[in-house]
Amino acid sequence: MKNIPVVMVIFGGSGDLAHRKLYPALYNLYEQGLIHDNFAVIGTARRPWSHEYLRSQVSDAIHETHDKVDENEVKNFTSHFYYQSHDVTNVEHYETLKKLAQDLDEHYNAQGNRLFYMAMAPRFFGTIATHINDQHLTGNGFNRIVVEKPFGRDLASAEELNKQITASFKEDDIFRIDHYLGKEMIQNIIPLRFSNWIFKNSWNKENIKNIQVTLAERLGVEARGGYYETSGALRDMVQNHIFQVITLLAMPEPESLKDNDIHKAKQELLDSLIIPNEEEIKKHFVRGQYAGSDTTFAYKKEPNVDENSTTETFAAGLVKFKKGPVADVPIYFRTGKEFKEKKNRIDIVFKNCHSLYGQVKHDVLTIEFDPTSSITLTINGKKITGEGLRQENLTYAFSKEEMAQVPDGYERLLHDVFVNDSTNFTHWGELKRYWQFIDAIEDAWQKENEKGQANIAQYPPYRMGPKEANNIFESPTEHWIYE
Ligand code: NAP
Repeated sequence: MKNIPVVMVIFGGSGDLAHRKLYPALYNLYEQGLIHDNFAVIGTARRPWSHEYLRSQVSDAIHETHDKVDENEVKNFTSHFYYQSHDVTNVEHYETLKKLAQDLDEHYNAQGNRLFYMAMAPRFFGTIATHINDQHLTGNGFNRIVVEKPFGRDLASAEELNKQITASFKEDDIFRIDHYLGKEMIQNIIPLRFSNWIFKNSWNKENIKNIQVTLAERLGVEARGGYYETSGALRDMVQNHIFQVITLLAMPEPESLKDNDIHKAKQELLDSLIIPNEEEIKKHFVRGQYAGSDTTFAYKKEPNVDENSTTETFAAGLVKFKKGPVADVPIYFRTGKEFKEKKNRIDIVFKNCHSLYGQVKHDVLTIEFDPTSSITLTINGKKITGEGLRQENLTYAFSKEEMAQVPDGYERLLHDVFVNDSTNFTHWGELKRYWQFIDAIEDAWQKENEKGQANIAQYPPYRMGPKEANNIFESPTEHWIYE
């Protein structure tokens, strides 16, 4: 693998994401030779750590995620790490950071390449981008920036943030990261759709009845009530993860597998995204909050949550496109906290054929991407004894050994940033369309709140969300496949 010279700056170097995901991922890329002799990583945060202390933290992060490591390799790797105490709101601190980056660039011969990673609370993203620009932190080689989610909290704030970032970075150098796009089965959607005759030729409105995307979480908001109150399920899960998955499922075949062609196909689809009106939102969208039980808190009783909160912990709805292979096909989604189990899955429901057997069950292609990775085709077959048909599953699942080889999403995505492959990152044009859709729903819900007509279904914890979500379908012959 090519060795990429670079000085990487991680804003939020003492945070959870850096510790659990970024440091182990960087170590694996170092082991593969993608970064080796000519790199340095500067971790920044306010607390007064030393270089040595950061190195010990990075070493701990590697030991926590790897069964066996070569201690010499770990030592060599961590020797490339430097800590800079830095408050992102303090202009003077950027001077010190710039000087350190320049010195390290010279020391490691990093050829003026810079990679900035915003691993901090989103409210700081704009400030950091502005200071990178004003204080000239960029180098004279490549300059790339990775921005964590959420990118804005509506279209207006996303536009503002984008303006701040594009002051220093070209669109092609902005990597808006969504770790769902690093998941094995999500990366398998394009090969599945476009390398199999049966799917390539049946993935269209003539054959598909509907598509269903479920991102169910077992946990409640736990200690994150304060943050969640500013977000809700729609902004936290639908605006990014669910829309990314839907885009991959509905986009036309790209001209090639190059990142530009994939983004072109996505944009073509998203330009035809139908933004629902208030009437449609009333009919096909549901919001909910988990209610308490004898042993669990209701959302409204969680710490740092307003007891009159209208923030949704569950959202379900309908997405449709005017163009693309599944134009006009209903794509339903639902996501929520305190479901009966953690389950991320996609169900492609095929139409009923006119059959000699009368009414038969739909064929369903199910792609599960969490907690396990599998693809299952559910089909009809003969019963061994007696009359009629039974449903059978054809499953392509990974063995434990194969699962162990699957790289973490962050490792994959960081690798892509180093090699400048933007396939699995969100372009601005795509993000803009996602926000336009989300804003329409948020506005309609806000209007209901203001009229005192907020319709927020309270649902029992650890089941399947609110029963109202069973009524969002366009036709009475449709229902959730995963129940
Ligand atoms: P976190 O654990 O709260 O870390 C925040 C970091 O920011 C700390 O290093 C903190 O260190 C630093 N910080 C706070 N205020 C600062 C300031 N004024 N100047 C400089 N540094 C400051 O957050 P996180 O969980 O790592 O999340 C970071 C980002 O990643 C968020 O956008 C989140 O949505 C995203 N993300 C996280 C995960 C995950 O698994 N954690 C997964 C997906 C996405 P000091 O207090 O020392 O300054």
